[in-house]
Amino acid sequence: MTDTIFTKIINREIPADIVYEDELCLAFKDVNPQAPVHLLIIPKQPIATINDIEAPDRELVGHLFLTAGKIAKDMGFDEEGYRVVMNCNEAAGQTVFHIHLHLLAGKPLGWPPY
Ligand code: IMP
Repeated sequence: MTDTIFTKIINREIPADIVYEDELCLAFKDVNPQAPVHLLIIPKQPIATINDIEAPDRELVGHLFLTAGKIAKDMGFDEEGYRVVMNCNEAAGQTVFHIHLHLLAGKPLGWPPY
């Protein structure tokens, strides 16, 4: 896949407000937050969309969710609640084609999201 802006963030070629990093993933603040807390959790390995996730990626994708839960708990949102979403392709609102979990918290979140 072609590089996206998220590859540049991983490679520190453009700035980002990084809140968590390990060998597999990176979490940083969304530049256009939709809630008081809006983080993006991305794998360092670029995968364009959910459609491109393959069986060998299951551990990596699981790790993204474990990381989201850990960050939410560390920030104190585990009891209050928070949302984790991943958009797939344009109709769902995906604009950056490097998979990412949105972690949203800090206000009541409406459902359904339209
Ligand atoms: P998507 O619409 O689900 O693909 O989410 C992409 C998200 O990336 C959007 O919420 C954007 O605000 C966010 N975004 C785009 N460029 C940057 C950046 O350079 N830093 C942080 N967030 C970004």
